[in-house]
Amino acid sequence: MMNQRLLPRTELGEMMTPAYVLDESALRRNLKILLDVQQRSGCKILLAQKAFSMFAVYPMISEYLAGTTASGLYEARLGHEEFGAGDVHVFSPAYKENEICDIAKYADHIVFNSFAQLRKLRGYCKGKSLGIRINPECSTQDEPIYDPCAPDSRLGVTLANFDEAEFEGVDGIHFHTLCEQGFEPLAKTVEAVEQKFGKYLHKCKWVNFGGGHHITKTGYDIEGLLSLIKRFSEKYGVQVYLEPGEAVVLNAGWLVAEVMEIVHNGIEIAILDTSAACHMPDVLEMPYRPPLFNSGHPGEKRYTYRLSSRTCLAGDIIGDYSFDEPLKEGDRLCFEDMALYTMVKNNTFNGMPLPDIGILRSSYELVKRFGYEDFKGRLS
Ligand SMILES: *Cc1c(COP(=O)(O)O)cnc(C)c1O
Repeated sequence: MMNQRLLPRTELGEMMTPAYVLDESALRRNLKILLDVQQRSGCKILLAQKAFSMFAVYPMISEYLAGTTASGLYEARLGHEEFGAGDVHVFSPAYKENEICDIAKYADHIVFNSFAQLRKLRGYCKGKSLGIRINPECSTQDEPIYDPCAPDSRLGVTLANFDEAEFEGVDGIHFHTLCEQGFEPLAKTVEAVEQKFGKYLHKCKWVNFGGGHHITKTGYDIEGLLSLIKRFSEKYGVQVYLEPGEAVVLNAGWLVAEVMEIVHNGIEIAILDTSAACHMPDVLEMPYRPPLFNSGHPGEKRYTYRLSSRTCLAGDIIGDYSFDEPLKEGDRLCFEDMALYTMVKNNTFNGMPLPDIGILRSSYELVKRFGYEDFKGRLS
């Protein structure tokens, strides 16, 4: 008998593992918050597909959000194909000449990272609303890998590099400087943007505040956000866009895995049928210790285990966790907040099978199962 106390929902004990399971009701809860922000502030919110591209639920998301944003051709095409009639925005640090024509088929808003790219490629974008990404040089966080305002950043045009003549005919300004942040850092960033680029904001039709807003997290200052957006759009006469990824699916999915074996070597080590390196790469890249349902920190509960993977990489360790009862083979574990930056980043290193993708409605529904052909198909 598997330990039911380790499952937030009994349905998660029944399907095959590993599996990413989207919680439809949690997604809807987030979407309602984002719809409310749009209705009360007049802004438009786009899904940043970089964080989450489970297109099976795009029809549902499209009931609440205004469209999608893409990091390049493939995401733009996916948004165009799967999101219904919504806006398709795209930003990439650099576009290839042979991509931009296709991008222009799918996207309606195209944002450039430099005036050189704009100059070179704007001729291919007839009829599109063009934007330029700026760098307000206003750091509000300490993680350089997530800070586009860090020194020597390649992302966005600084005020010193702003080409006023080339800006002629451009509709919008885009900035993206936040990552998992509250309202205060946004307010500080907007202040820097207005102070440095105010003159250009007056010429815009739209301004995109990027992503990284933790709007759906408990405690986010939504009223502050609403009044900032209203003031800003009135002052400059612009449409404000937000393009969160994480906030759309925050706490809206699990990665369900199974204990395959317990190894004793100084400590107790559980080998799972999943992998940090393959199925939740941010655990090793950020790095962070993912939340796990009904578990504690090491030593907090009676039985402590190192949760590890079944790849050959020694460092493929998810983290140390404690439990009320000993783990045993066949137990299911539910890693939490696993909808974002997981499916879009996974890989088949070590020949690892990819997790199923499923959705929990009133019951569990399998959306997609992968196989050997997905492993072989990206090699030759
Ligand atoms: C990553 C990214 C987003 C989404 O960021 P989240 O942290 O997932 O909200 C939005 N816009 C741009 C340009 C990005 O690079």
